[in-house]
Amino acid sequence: MAKTFIFKFGGASTKDADSVKNLSKILHNRLRNHTVIVVSAMGKTTNALEVILNKKLIHEDYSSNITILKNYHLNICNGLFAQSHPIFSGIENLFLKLTRTLDRQINKDNYDEAYDGIISFGELIASRIIQEYLCDQGLFCLWQDARELIVTNEDFRFAKLDWEKTKQKIQKYLLPKLMQFPVLTQGFIGQSNTGKTTTLGREGSDFSAAIFATCLKSNSVTIWKDVAGVLNADPKRFNNTVKFDELDYREAAELTYYGASVIHPKTIKPLANHSIPLFVKSFLDPEASGTKIHHVPVINKIPCLVVKDEQILVSFKVTDFTFINESHIHKVFAELEKLKLRVNLLQNSAISISIVIDKEVFKLEKLIEKLQDDFEIRYNEGLQLLTIKNPHSALVEDCIKNRNVLLEQVTRATFQTVMTPLS
Ligand code: ASP
Ligand code: MG
Repeated sequence: MAKTFIFKFGGASTKDADSVKNLSKILHNRLRNHTVIVVSAMGKTTNALEVILNKKLIHEDYSSNITILKNYHLNICNGLFAQSHPIFSGIENLFLKLTRTLDRQINKDNYDEAYDGIISFGELIASRIIQEYLCDQGLFCLWQDARELIVTNEDFRFAKLDWEKTKQKIQKYLLPKLMQFPVLTQGFIGQSNTGKTTTLGREGSDFSAAIFATCLKSNSVTIWKDVAGVLNADPKRFNNTVKFDELDYREAAELTYYGASVIHPKTIKPLANHSIPLFVKSFLDPEASGTKIHHVPVINKIPCLVVKDEQILVSFKVTDFTFINESHIHKVFAELEKLKLRVNLLQNSAISISIVIDKEVFKLEKLIEKLQDDFEIRYNEGLQLLTIKNPHSALVEDCIKNRNVLLEQVTRATFQTVMTPLS
């Protein structure tokens, strides 16, 4: 297969006009014909769309939120284009479509499907603006609707990829275009067989980049971030962080599993299976080396810290004087699976099962509804899950100091705790 390259730019790298100019500068020196540029929504657009959707759900007026979001994008365009540029009517059009989509009935039962239809506008708008700007700068590239290529099932908000169909489409439709021009497309979004828009999970555009790379057997993927590369901890939370020059696929996958937000958890596996290197580089310092994730034989011994916020600790206590057995665990996990809720931590005692899950609209409520006849259920919200890989006691002590620790789990290589956040 021909040499191809994937570049992915997230929301932070396109948050304002200057950022888009910087993106174009990065591409100026590096853009080759056989490059797919994957972009996600600009800045915090996805969060803003979630707020709009939730207001709609509770019948609150969201018109001012739409105006703010539209003006945000128009402002970016003002910094990038002449007033007569057709992009301005393009944006008006997309916002009109968004408003129409929001006019439909949205309730608890169709929430996930409506979510994907609405949230995907962030990516559609961003990709239009960026493609137009790159073309204006002489970096000619084609705009591609990712939904024509990325085929998923209808697990809305967490859609599963149909690898076979997606690969066929990418090779049939994308590859010929790519042989002539760079192609710019959206991360995060896809489409079901019946033509419904789907999304791959929050922050899923890294995964999209990996999908394109795998289906094209690309030479590399580069994710452009606002950090120097993959660090051993989030520099916004911890001091003295260390950047990895290189990291084994397995190690990187493990960190994302615990919640390291630098790369989406699903990104690593397909790349590892095809030995496609993943570069994580800073868009603020594009010449710096960043981190290369590939097959590395040496095991990392540096402590790594990962924090997950907004965690819920739920305990299921048996009420009939029996002890916890497999059938109790099975019952709880069967419901979790139906709700597509991932367990971040599990612990059981003689009479109770405790799980830690992410906060998601309606999910806890539905879980309790299903299991309240079998268990006495208690929960605590707004907690933090901290995972330390390669821990040492002084570090652990420092991290849990002044915290209310609700649960702790220790294995040979990892320490995990659920605790109240620092106030
Ligand atoms: N825009 C989406 C999100 O913020 C996808 C992504 O950024 O990867 O979750
Ligand atoms: Mg994002």
